[in-house]
Amino acid sequence: MTGANAHDAARQLSELDAEVVECRACPRLVAWREEVAVTRRAAFRTQEYWGRPVPGFGPADARIAILGLAPAAHGGNRTGRIFTGDRSGDVLFAALHRAGLANQPTSVARDDGLRLVHTRIFAAVRCAPPENKPTPAERDTCASWLRREVGLLRPTLRVIVALGAFAWSSVWPTLTTVYGIGPPRPLPPFGHGARVDRPGAPTVLGCYHVSQQNTFTGRLTPRMLDEVLSTARAVAGLAGIR
Ligand code: SF4
Repeated sequence: MTGANAHDAARQLSELDAEVVECRACPRLVAWREEVAVTRRAAFRTQEYWGRPVPGFGPADARIAILGLAPAAHGGNRTGRIFTGDRSGDVLFAALHRAGLANQPTSVARDDGLRLVHTRIFAAVRCAPPENKPTPAERDTCASWLRREVGLLRPTLRVIVALGAFAWSSVWPTLTTVYGIGPPRPLPPFGHGARVDRPGAPTVLGCYHVSQQNTFTGRLTPRMLDEVLSTARAVAGLAGIR
């Protein structure tokens, strides 16, 4: 990407982010994110919650995209940055740092100096849902933001890491719209280490979600996460590049 194109891509992505944070398309999620922002968790009661949709994070010329489910009520919905200020983010950003895809291993606040390298992180649903469970209708409504974001990343995007089955299922309609390439038939089931390569579309990698449920039980270990990110780097042409 040339300097002028890169500048244009960054401007368009930041315009998209500015639109996302104003979205009120899902009444149930708008009510929930705002209620949580008022009631707050005791440990954060002195903090002002973000309480709005959480946009993607990372450079506009990313080669690797990491797709999560939705912001956590007291994580992204509190801090305004995806996977920031919660245990899932602790695990994810430590791994990104080990992989050379983040400049620091922690993500605690929007002004903490964190920068991602070659990597953009976003969620299939951009508002915190009750019990981390968006409805199919909410997923479909929010898919328009995902499609637009992937469309803007398209010139450089080489690989999408889907964290969990929900993200895995959200990838295929997005690729159909953005790349004009329908889902593989039969559609491979989600699994850790699942991989789909097709000409003309980014490679899709499956990875267990970095939720506490998975990381506390050892279902997803740091080593397993490192292996997925190493594969993503190789697919993105970044092996050996820092
Ligand atoms: S979940 Fe997505 S579509 Fe629904 S209100 Fe939030 S940003 Fe808008």
